[in-house]
Amino acid sequence: MKKTGILIAALAAVILIAFVAYDGIFNKSVSVDFFAMNTVGNIKITGKDADETAELIEAKINSLDTDLLSRHDKNSALSKVNSGEDVESEELAAYIKALIEVSEKSGGAFDFTLGAVSDLWGFGGEASVPDSAVLAEALSHSGYEKISVTDNRIILEDRNAVIDLGAAGKGIALDKAKEILSAQNAKKAVISVGGSVLLYGEGDFTVGIRNPEGNAGEYIAVLRTNACCVSTSGNYERYFEENGKRYHHILDPGSGYPAESGVVSVTVISENGLLSDALSTACFVLGVEKGSELAKEFGCEAVFVAADKKIYATDGAKAMITVEAEGYALAE
Ligand code: AMP
Ligand code: MG
Repeated sequence: MKKTGILIAALAAVILIAFVAYDGIFNKSVSVDFFAMNTVGNIKITGKDADETAELIEAKINSLDTDLLSRHDKNSALSKVNSGEDVESEELAAYIKALIEVSEKSGGAFDFTLGAVSDLWGFGGEASVPDSAVLAEALSHSGYEKISVTDNRIILEDRNAVIDLGAAGKGIALDKAKEILSAQNAKKAVISVGGSVLLYGEGDFTVGIRNPEGNAGEYIAVLRTNACCVSTSGNYERYFEENGKRYHHILDPGSGYPAESGVVSVTVISENGLLSDALSTACFVLGVEKGSELAKEFGCEAVFVAADKKIYATDGAKAMITVEAEGYALAE
């Protein structure tokens, strides 16, 4: 009897060790920081082959930028389009088509042709308020309606227009990451690229809305959601101050100056990364009322943090949000 007891105990221990080892292999968790698309990112994955999956995702985000979307890397398809070359790319054409739709539905508040105007401001580098005549000249060459797509070719009707996909690239990166996670049978993942986050897998996730006056990692509210993409555009991301006034990087395509719609950040929740990213920028330019309408038109939810610390949320977002910081309150 005693021997049988020892044997059973030994067997149980072996099974337990085997289970722990199995769980270690198949539910491995990794966390990888990276720098891409001129911003910081992080990949957290749980599941089989987590290391390999993280490597694949990081490589994909880098190549998406350098081969396709970057306007600073001379060899990217977008740089070639901007320099007037005839480029055929089914993938780039599909993104531009989707962004033309956002531009149209936002009444031009979203405009992916402000590259030359952004450069004059110099956000992220030697920034200063540009000369108004020079700004007006650059602005006259912008306008999404000057871009058309025919047979996977992107045509610049004004050769001086400069396409800039900075408002949507991080979301596109999340869509690509999602494809890899699914092909790799990953269980759960949270991937951030700048202000855009992919929540992947079953169950609930929580994601914070950053304190616009605080540091990265300080939150004023928390969203509880299922798997989705969450993008935030804020006036704290890239800005400079001149003569006591803050100038931020999200531009009003009507004036070429930083958008002043009364909001300091907008967060958009969508199943699609391109949409969450593009719409967060568009909604920032449009402000609470028109922005909410636009988000709804695309079946997305949105949270607007206003300059007076009131937080406006679409109905679906109201069900997800808990405001945590003192001084901030959800508007009725
Ligand atoms: P995001 O951080 O996603 O809101 O994107 C902001 C970036 O998009 C800026 O740094 C510019 O490169 C670009 N951008 C600025 N204003 C606009 C606009 N009105 N529509 C589209 N892109 C814009
Ligand atoms: Mg954006």
